[in-house]
Amino acid sequence: MISSKQITFDQQHIWHPYSSMINPPPTYPVESASGVKITLSDGRELIDGMASWWSAIHGYGHPELNQAAHEQIDKMSHVMFGGLTHEPAIELCKKLVAMTPANLDKVFLADSGSVAVEVAIKMAIQYFHAQDLSEKNKLITIKNGYHGDTFGAMSVCDPVTGMHEIFTGLLPQHFFAPAPQTRFDEPWDSDDIAPLKALFDEHHHNIAALILEPIVQGAGGMRFYSPHYLKEARKLCDEYNVLLIADEIATGFGRSGRLFACEHADIQPDILCVGKALTGGYMTLAATLTTTHIGETISAGGAGCFMHGPTFMGNPLACAVANTSLALLQRNDWESDVNRIERLLKQGLAEAQTLEGVADVRCLGAIGVIEMKEAVNTAKIQKLFIERGLWIRPFGKLVYVMPPYIMQDEDLNQLTTGMVDAVAHYTR
Ligand code: PMP
Repeated sequence: MISSKQITFDQQHIWHPYSSMINPPPTYPVESASGVKITLSDGRELIDGMASWWSAIHGYGHPELNQAAHEQIDKMSHVMFGGLTHEPAIELCKKLVAMTPANLDKVFLADSGSVAVEVAIKMAIQYFHAQDLSEKNKLITIKNGYHGDTFGAMSVCDPVTGMHEIFTGLLPQHFFAPAPQTRFDEPWDSDDIAPLKALFDEHHHNIAALILEPIVQGAGGMRFYSPHYLKEARKLCDEYNVLLIADEIATGFGRSGRLFACEHADIQPDILCVGKALTGGYMTLAATLTTTHIGETISAGGAGCFMHGPTFMGNPLACAVANTSLALLQRNDWESDVNRIERLLKQGLAEAQTLEGVADVRCLGAIGVIEMKEAVNTAKIQKLFIERGLWIRPFGKLVYVMPPYIMQDEDLNQLTTGMVDAVAHYTR
């Protein structure tokens, strides 16, 4: 059990995500996690609404994932990927090529979502550089996006909601179109694409790629937008010789109700980033996939290779667990689980719409969002969730859940009932 001394050390010495060293936010000590529950040091069990930020889709301590990790660690935990290869990476990449859109068949294994985005950006820029079109080195994106915390990724996050505003002067300057306004299930308004088209029209000579989160904008606002927008964006990319980078780090592997969110619009990206749920939340691993044409064009360019290669690339331990996680996903009928969760989230959260202080309630796939009128006090509302046996971590105006796919109806009902009740108490 974690001692109070250890907690004090944590508070005094350890950065948590987006935390302060002067006024550290409360952190709850976790003893263990199993299935959909997180057990705190004092014995309290919390139903996990976050799936550890979209990743733990099969729940915690899954026997098959544990076994895959144990078996692999007994063979080798890691070897360098430069000049060496191994079965876990090969089998994982086979699966990724088979599962992702048909045009994508070259895989770069990256060590986190942000790195997968960096890799995607470099691929797009190197692709044009290799064709003596090095002036095509800018990106275009849509506002309210979030792509990670490293410099390349920060440069395409929403300048305000993307949390990186203070670095603006240091970041490469790219083009931002307004966020799509037509919501996921609204009739398509063709004017919605006009600002993006205008930017393509004016700047395409300098644009290598459009990067966006398909359908679900996550950390930049939890917005669900029309598949028509994505279809039109794909058309613009084709028309103007601009690559389309789909960041499916959050949406990939079923979260939005389709295996990949691009499928809602029946389009294929030129470059795809996946991460988060790839290892079922066990360890960090991500991947960037592209086409044979892009892979070969990059390789035929002056550099003669793709210029990236991290130390822990293709980590066998992570690949072995990811392999098993993807096998579980395919075997477990994720689609009916995600549809079931969507139905229960819609039913369970609907009541929140009538609450004082709530601006909007929306659900898509296994994602449920209560958007408040004002930013919430995270520490205060989190206490209310914990009292109700729930682990939910809001940010800004957004109180949201994306539970593990294995969550059963009873726990889901407790999650939504407690969430609505806590929001009601918070605003009272
Ligand atoms: N892209 C998207 C869409 C994300 O949601 C995130 C993580 N929130 C990232 C990229 C960055 O991934 P990581 O935190 O693994 O670097």
